[in-house]
Amino acid sequence: MPAATRASASQIAADEQQHGIAIPVLNYHSIGVEPENTYVLHPDMFARQMDYLAAQHYTPLTLGDFARIIEKKQPSPERPVLLTFDDGYANNAEVAMPILQRHGFPATLFLSPGFIGQPGYLSWPQVQELSAAGWDIAPHGLTHRHLPQLSIEHQREEITESRRRIAHALGRSADVFAYPFGEYNEDTIKILKKAPYRYAFTTKEGYATSKQSPYELSRIVVHGEDDLATWVQKLVNSGRRS
Ligand SMILES: [Zn+2]
Repeated sequence: MPAATRASASQIAADEQQHGIAIPVLNYHSIGVEPENTYVLHPDMFARQMDYLAAQHYTPLTLGDFARIIEKKQPSPERPVLLTFDDGYANNAEVAMPILQRHGFPATLFLSPGFIGQPGYLSWPQVQELSAAGWDIAPHGLTHRHLPQLSIEHQREEITESRRRIAHALGRSADVFAYPFGEYNEDTIKILKKAPYRYAFTTKEGYATSKQSPYELSRIVVHGEDDLATWVQKLVNSGRRS
């Protein structure tokens, strides 16, 4: 990569002063062939994106690494990135996992346990396989409801029961949440704080930073129609807008 496009050490220091620690968090959903659906990314493009991250010396993080870096308890690699997958599609295990394994990349799955076993979605043994392969499995609501439309009690059930079922199946669950549809209200955040969860991801576009509310972390949603150059632009430049 030409030197001019790489941020200098002083630029990085200035950015950190302004935005805190900033990490791009890529948000994937389904990895398959469904060109008309913006939330389905073709496996070939996914493979090209992972090749790009490897060639450009990005370091994909575990969820634990991500939290410790944001909290300044652990130094950041030069180019950190967190790879997240929402919902729990079967192709995450069947297609994405083997591609990530080629590079030794970890990932995080935000799983809605209510989808388990439905056509096109993961089974519990597949979730266990992902977990054994180094994926972090974290809650995404039990049945993927629009949380702000629910009563407080119903919201609490969606949030706590999704974590309980993952813990029951895997023996552990992450204390990081991703909002279904990126939607939440004040009650949602109160429930998360009380549970307690440490962090929650939205679908607001941008890098996640240590200066954002821990319950309103930004991500970069990957769209199926984007070519590689567009995806690279979002990966590299979204931090400048957050
Ligand atoms: Zn979702």
